[in-house]
Amino acid sequence: RAKANGRGRAVEYDPELDRERLRVAEMEALLKSAISNGAIEAFFQPLVSATTGAVTGLEALARWRAPTGNISPEIFIPLAERCGLIDALGVHMLKTSIEHARNWPGLALSVNVSPVQLCNPEFAAVVISLLQELDFDPKRLTLEITEGVLMTNPEQARRSIDHLKQVGIKFALDDFGCGYASIGALRQFGFDRMKIDRSLVSALDQASNGADVLRATISLATALQIPVTAEGIENTRQAAILREAGCDQLQGYLIGKPMSAVDISSKLQEHAA
Ligand code: C2E
Ligand code: MG
Ligand code: MG
Ligand code: MG
Repeated sequence: RAKANGRGRAVEYDPELDRERLRVAEMEALLKSAISNGAIEAFFQPLVSATTGAVTGLEALARWRAPTGNISPEIFIPLAERCGLIDALGVHMLKTSIEHARNWPGLALSVNVSPVQLCNPEFAAVVISLLQELDFDPKRLTLEITEGVLMTNPEQARRSIDHLKQVGIKFALDDFGCGYASIGALRQFGFDRMKIDRSLVSALDQASNGADVLRATISLATALQIPVTAEGIENTRQAAILREAGCDQLQGYLIGKPMSAVDISSKLQEHAA
């Protein structure tokens, strides 16, 4: 925080700022090697049918086991976006999660995509050639995006989405209800699914009109014939309200936490048996 008030006055030296810059640079270097050496791993969280409880799909979530301990994607995804590593990280996540999903026939795969990736004009072509290379049916893939990109670069977002939808890839609008995404955006960009943000679900535990807000949101999506997933379900009461309100897919710790590929494989086998 250099002070430049007053002409000719020396700029104050702030050792804390230097330390901060060093930490960020260190993190960037660590992240870069983590992407290339496999320290970033895809975990998988089940998506279940609200009516039957059957697992219908899995959402891939990035996990970083850093030397200093696990680092949350809430930290390293924005970092990767800022320092130009998000495209490499995104391809790594797509590739590794598809490789795992090939062992789970019949299940859909959802992968989160950063707005920064979607704004890259090469993104769609990269995804399509990756699917061909890995011989993975595009109809099994859903890309989850948040509304940010729809505001900042709607033209490029639309081009990428249109291109990818042409080959059968689906799109889910993630974190609905915590930002500015409108019902209009759902229709305008041709979203195949809406994901209700965890904050709206946890609001059900407070004595408020949380349930009314959820019901209204879900019925608007239903009027547009867009199916709804609720995320962050932690208790049976929330699940019951959401099911009754017309949510067709549920996700959350109540149903299953994000797990390693090995753990989800054995869970799926248990269920099949
Ligand atoms: P998201 O896509 O909305 O994912 C849902 C987040 O909620 C995940 O956090 C998940 O672990 C957590 N969650 C699921 N069920 C529950 C629950 O019942 N209770 C609670 N308290 N939390 C629950 P996570 O894995 O920390 O990821 C955070 C965010 O980071 C994701 O939010 C997504 O926006 C981003 N992210 C994660 N992996 C990737 C990735 O590979 N690429 C990109 N671009 N973003 C990613
Ligand atoms: Mg998501
Ligand atoms: Mg979400
Ligand atoms: Mg989120």
